[in-house]
Amino acid sequence: MIKFKHVYKIYEKDIRALDDISFEICDGELVFITGPSGAGKSTILNLLYREDVPTMGTILVNDTDISHLRGGKISKYRRSIGFVFQDFKLLFDRCVFDNIALPLEVVGTNRQYIKRVVLEYIKKIGLSGKEKLNPWHLSGGEKQKVAIARALITSPSLILADEPTGNLDDFSAWEVITMLLDANKAGTTVIIATHNKEIISRVGGRVIKLDKGRLIHQ
Ligand code: ADP
Repeated sequence: MIKFKHVYKIYEKDIRALDDISFEICDGELVFITGPSGAGKSTILNLLYREDVPTMGTILVNDTDISHLRGGKISKYRRSIGFVFQDFKLLFDRCVFDNIALPLEVVGTNRQYIKRVVLEYIKKIGLSGKEKLNPWHLSGGEKQKVAIARALITSPSLILADEPTGNLDDFSAWEVITMLLDANKAGTTVIIATHNKEIISRVGGRVIKLDKGRLIHQ
């Protein structure tokens, strides 16, 4: 369970990126966060990822106030989250296989297990035979599918996606959204920040709407 309680994020010169935001998201929910550029969507995701802390207010994740986490506890908390970015953030000095395997390698997972699950994912995203390619050679949609596979490989309880379809054509955008919907059907809480109205209306479901840091609708 995620709870934002009267959360403010105020930058210098009184920029109110978030202005008294309160909402709750239950385990297993699929939620879109929408609103114009500058509304505060990325700020919500970054706070949830514990990249930053609120200026005021409380963010509880499973009853833990994540602002109080320090050092190793922040890394441990982040391991329960998969983050998907608009610009993919793949590593271009490694092949597709190694990009997807990375989160498992970091926690010292058994090599045999890594090989099996990573190849399963590569097959699922339709990239069998391309596992040794550098992601540089992939299309935008393929790059984002690799990035989502990397986010899902550790079976996180929460996925945060920041404009995941922002750089993609309609077909690839829908493929990427389908991967996130499938993860949600399997029980993962999924939060997608987007201003793609077509995708939101096609999927349906809950929408948290922001404008200039204020909550307009939830
Ligand atoms: P969105 O994701 O909806 O486009 P953001 O959350 O990125 O919006 O930004 C919300 C507001 O906070 C914007 O006015 C933005 O310029 C401001 N902002 C975001 N990050 C910073 C920062 N590090 N320093 C100063 N202002 C920031």
